[in-house]
Amino acid sequence: MTTTIIDGKAFAAKVRGQVAGYVAGLKERGIIPGLAVVLVGEDPASQVYVRNKGKQTVEVGMNSYEHKLPVDTSEADLLALIARLNADPAVHGILVQLPLPGHMNADLVINAIDPAKDVDGFHISNVGLLGTGQKAMVPCTPLGCLMMLRDHLGSLSGLNAVVVGRSNIVGKPMAQLLLGDSCTVTIAHSRTKDLPEVCRRADILVAAVGRPEMVTGAFVKPGATVIDVGINRIERDGKMKLVGDVHFESAAAVAGAITPVPGGVGPMTIACLLANTVTACHRANGLPEPQGLTA
Ligand code: NDP
Repeated sequence: MTTTIIDGKAFAAKVRGQVAGYVAGLKERGIIPGLAVVLVGEDPASQVYVRNKGKQTVEVGMNSYEHKLPVDTSEADLLALIARLNADPAVHGILVQLPLPGHMNADLVINAIDPAKDVDGFHISNVGLLGTGQKAMVPCTPLGCLMMLRDHLGSLSGLNAVVVGRSNIVGKPMAQLLLGDSCTVTIAHSRTKDLPEVCRRADILVAAVGRPEMVTGAFVKPGATVIDVGINRIERDGKMKLVGDVHFESAAAVAGAITPVPGGVGPMTIACLLANTVTACHRANGLPEPQGLTA
């Protein structure tokens, strides 16, 4: 049996191409989608993410507005900026880069974003809309996973899906999306008993654990599709290396298809941020939903 390596980099490029097509269509109507990214402080990883987001936003033809605030910015000042962005018709998407400094209440800040502009899909209204199967802004990483699964498998209806991890940003929304596509969904976590046995029931296995290479081939049902959300920087043979939550070699030997790290889920996350911004812009202007870019 040959294992398909799902190429997230190529798929993300395709999604960005679709986004660029919609942006061109909007420009013909005199509308330029705009994404505002707010970064508080100087966390190096966050700075890299924000730079990449800004670059890719411009590459697909959208306007990028970066707001870099000092680490000692008060919560009130951040909320005032969000209120201005909420009211700004040129801004269709707002993303506040997490984590925020310790003196800020992240829930309060995220819930201050207009839900219609909440392109990260973390606002409590969007969480509720997704959970009740209504039109929501969907968190980017799980949306990217869903797109890759649909692309690879076609219909997901009736498949057994196991999501390892129950975080609000990945595990829970991933499970909701799979349920929305009529999978039979199990959410596993650190208290799950006999995790390998639970995982071996999965036709679709999504690992979002944050533990380097924890999910080995012994967790994988033969022929299953394995989505590795993990991004872990580890030292091996004296060099820093990026690995997922899945032990790639052993899992790939059993799986029917698998996403690599790097080059799997990672590139899809920013592509889906751009997709969400175009979706938000369409909705703000009463236009039909962009095809293939939403849940
Ligand atoms: P969290 O730390 O918020 O959640 C991890 C989840 O894994 C928790 O629900 C936890 O269970 C569960 N878990 C931890 N240890 C075990 C274990 N031994 N067995 C079973 N379950 C376990 O992480 P995130 O959801 O934010 O991220 C998960 C991974 O995805 C990370 O590697 C992160 O870097 C990556 N990531 C990648 C993104 C991308 O763009 N590709 C974006 C976001 C995240 P419990 O709740 O019981 O503690």
